[in-house]
Amino acid sequence: MSRFLLIGPPGAGKGTQAALLAQSFSIPAISTGDIFRANVKAETELGLAAKAFMDRGEYVPDSLTNDLVRDRLSQGDAKSGFLLDGYPRTSEQVAELDSMLEAAATKLDAVVLINADTEELVRRLANRAIEQGRTDDTEDVIRRRQEVYAEQTAPLIAVYSGRGLVVEIDGIGAVAEVTARILEALAERGISA
Ligand code: AMP
Repeated sequence: MSRFLLIGPPGAGKGTQAALLAQSFSIPAISTGDIFRANVKAETELGLAAKAFMDRGEYVPDSLTNDLVRDRLSQGDAKSGFLLDGYPRTSEQVAELDSMLEAAATKLDAVVLINADTEELVRRLANRAIEQGRTDDTEDVIRRRQEVYAEQTAPLIAVYSGRGLVVEIDGIGAVAEVTARILEALAERGISA
């Protein structure tokens, strides 16, 4: 019955940690980036609309993103908990998620913030570009994605901090080490799988 958000700059390891945490808590990991990529690959209408933004390192418009999340959270497996990876990313998305949770009479348990130094992130993303062939992992786009995060998403941390929800984690280290840090920090807040 846990509801988490995972926030962090591009390349901080959100996707990897999301999958591991979701498994620990037996909840679905919902990644808007993964859903957009699957739609791009399948050449759906949503995919075609999202691709131009993604390829430039810009955010997909809030209207499309909010509709996608609303639809995904209404599915049965998300009713008793979820981990949102990469959503919300704008203040409009925060407001929209608030209204979705209110309508469902539920609330968030924690917002996990995975932090890492920008230089390390750029290096990681350049490696991932080679390994996974992502079209939004070229150097210019990597830089733009970091800027967009700093401008639009980093300010949301203060909003969730004000609600007492933020658990900040150092994202540098081995995958298992970072997972252990997250689980420990959540346990300290009385949240365990
Ligand atoms: P990610 O894999 O989470 O880094 O997402 C890859 C790309 O998908 C982002 O650079 C955006 O273009 C798009 N995207 C993912 N999540 C969102 C979101 N919550 N709001 C807007 N765009 C998003």
